[in-house]
Amino acid sequence: MDVGHYAAEPGVISASGRPEFEYNRDLALEVKAELERAGLQVRMIGERGDYAVLHHRTRDAQGAKLLVSIHHDSVKERLLPEADRFSGFSLFVSKFNPKAGQSLACASAIGAQLRGAGFTPSRYHADPVLGESRPFADEPNGVHYYDNLAVARSAPMAAVLVEAGVIVNREEERRMLDPEVRRRIAAAVAGGVRACLGKEP
Ligand SMILES: [Zn+2]
Repeated sequence: MDVGHYAAEPGVISASGRPEFEYNRDLALEVKAELERAGLQVRMIGERGDYAVLHHRTRDAQGAKLLVSIHHDSVKERLLPEADRFSGFSLFVSKFNPKAGQSLACASAIGAQLRGAGFTPSRYHADPVLGESRPFADEPNGVHYYDNLAVARSAPMAAVLVEAGVIVNREEERRMLDPEVRRRIAAAVAGGVRACLGKEP
């Protein structure tokens, strides 16, 4: 379980001014708790905010069956004034990951669980104007290909990047701060992980 970003480079700054790293850490710890309740072994990476070197994350994930990197989303800089229009979760996998098929299966399972829990894919990352033309790998479940995504590409095991919600949207940020919403997201992510790892012999 990889906590996106680190203390000195904390990622997106939310609508209210809270750094993304803090959202990532809170959610990742909640997913960890859900997975451990289900009997899975979890190794945390970066929860103390000290992983400045990206390849140390994949190095320290060695031996895991799956790397899940937790993030919260933003929009293009010129769209920030309209950020309240953008909401929802997104999932990313790399075709260059050596376990690309399993990465996609896990991302799809996580997306399906999130949808089942009432969350909606953001979809804008596929758009050439609103997003970055990231093609859908599994459109209904909000999964995109992002082939050069460093952590997913260089991981020796299956890897999925989760953008849990758009924290530059004021309303969505309020939802992301709600412990009950966070618990439901964590339960869905953990459920997807369990579903896809369960299929692995
Ligand atoms: Zn991020």
